[in-house]
Amino acid sequence: MSFVESEERRALRAAVSELGKKYGYGWFTEKARTGGHTTELWEEAGKLGYLGVNLPEEYGGGGGGMADLSIVLEELGAAGCPLLMMVVSPSICGTVISRFGTGDQKRRWLPGLADGSTTMAFAITEPDAGSNSHNITTTARRTEDGWSLSGRKVFISGLDVAQAVLVVGRTEDARTGRLKPALFIVPIDARGVEYRKIEMDLISPDKQFSLFLDDVRLPADALVGSEDAALLQLFAGLNPERIMASAFAIGIARHALGKAVAYVNERQVWNGPIGAHQGISHPLAQIKIELELARLMLQKAAALYDAGEDLAAGEAANMAKYAAGEVAVRATDQAVQSLGGNGMTTEYGVASLVAAARATRIAPVSREMILNFVAQHSLGLPKSY
Ligand SMILES: Cc1cc2nc3c(=O)[nH]c(=O)nc-3n(C[C@H](O)[C@H](O)[C@H](O)COP(=O)(O)OP(=O)(O)OC[C@H]3O[C@@H](n4cnc5c(N)ncnc54)[C@H](O)[C@@H]3O)c2cc1C
Repeated sequence: MSFVESEERRALRAAVSELGKKYGYGWFTEKARTGGHTTELWEEAGKLGYLGVNLPEEYGGGGGGMADLSIVLEELGAAGCPLLMMVVSPSICGTVISRFGTGDQKRRWLPGLADGSTTMAFAITEPDAGSNSHNITTTARRTEDGWSLSGRKVFISGLDVAQAVLVVGRTEDARTGRLKPALFIVPIDARGVEYRKIEMDLISPDKQFSLFLDDVRLPADALVGSEDAALLQLFAGLNPERIMASAFAIGIARHALGKAVAYVNERQVWNGPIGAHQGISHPLAQIKIELELARLMLQKAAALYDAGEDLAAGEAANMAKYAAGEVAVRATDQAVQSLGGNGMTTEYGVASLVAAARATRIAPVSREMILNFVAQHSLGLPKSY
């Protein structure tokens, strides 16, 4: 085990950080406030090979793993450009297709996911199931030549920029009981697909949507992997999602902390900078410690995942996501406090981070569901629900 990052990864960090700074938080929030998208950055990151760094080389990827992809998102976020669709498109969708897709599916989808020319959304959440994914009712019925998919999803990110969405449904014969998920690639322009924007109080260029699937006819090869592979395939995608959600939150936390530290080092209202007061410096120091702890857990989760230790990676990814969400919330709140009135201005760009950080405590899996997981699986305590 080594805590020393390889030359290659350090170089990746530095290069991605440069790219992120070229765009920056001012550009990012301008896109968010004007209803724009982060297409230029997404395309440039794709062309440079950063979006597909985890995907197999034979399909245009970099041949790395989640450790590499999480570095890309963390550095973009720390530079003020947390690209939410990275949590979904190359990580969940790219991983599931790489691990369980047929040769045809890999050839069809992976090169585009790797170079960013294809964005794939991911849809599991349903209005009546929420955190209880076992209750999802989106159902796939066999037709003569494929599938018919019907159901409704909510809070699906990025449908307006995606060409396809990976939908978690259940097959008709597995309609009740414990979830036996079946994963379908659904082109956004397929007949019977509709989506509607949900108005969110989030300042983000990545929007959330309700998704309606009404008798969507799909070819047989829209199904990724086996319809009976149950939770294994789904978790192969959800662990990368948690790892990337941690990187997203940590990027935001680093950005907020960096702004706060720079400000309190300069701002003077008594003698010397306000950063000399322990009322200001200690909370920032605590956040720095919590941030480094969360990063360590993120790196551990990614390393376990890349080593094929799915079960251990699941526990670590949950813990990393918990720690990262908590520190993102604390860092953004303390950044606002450190800047005083300026913390609430558009110019300084700190209050606008608060809701995004807050969302990392809810999505993709809530803080409480992680605590349930740890209580039951790590501590062996009984389940209350
Ligand atoms: C910005 C954003 C982007 C998102 N993007 C996507 C996406 O791209 N694709 C997608 O599929 N989904 C997406 N989601 C949905 C997200 O994954 C869900 O919001 C999340 O899983 C929680 O589900 P819910 O909102 O239905 O809350 P609920 O399940 O209704 O939970 C509400 C509250 O009750 C708590 N709770 C529920 N059950 C228990 C329990 N057993 N014990 C203790 N507490 C409990 C929860 O922790 C939460 O605090 C997104 C959400 C947000 C906010």
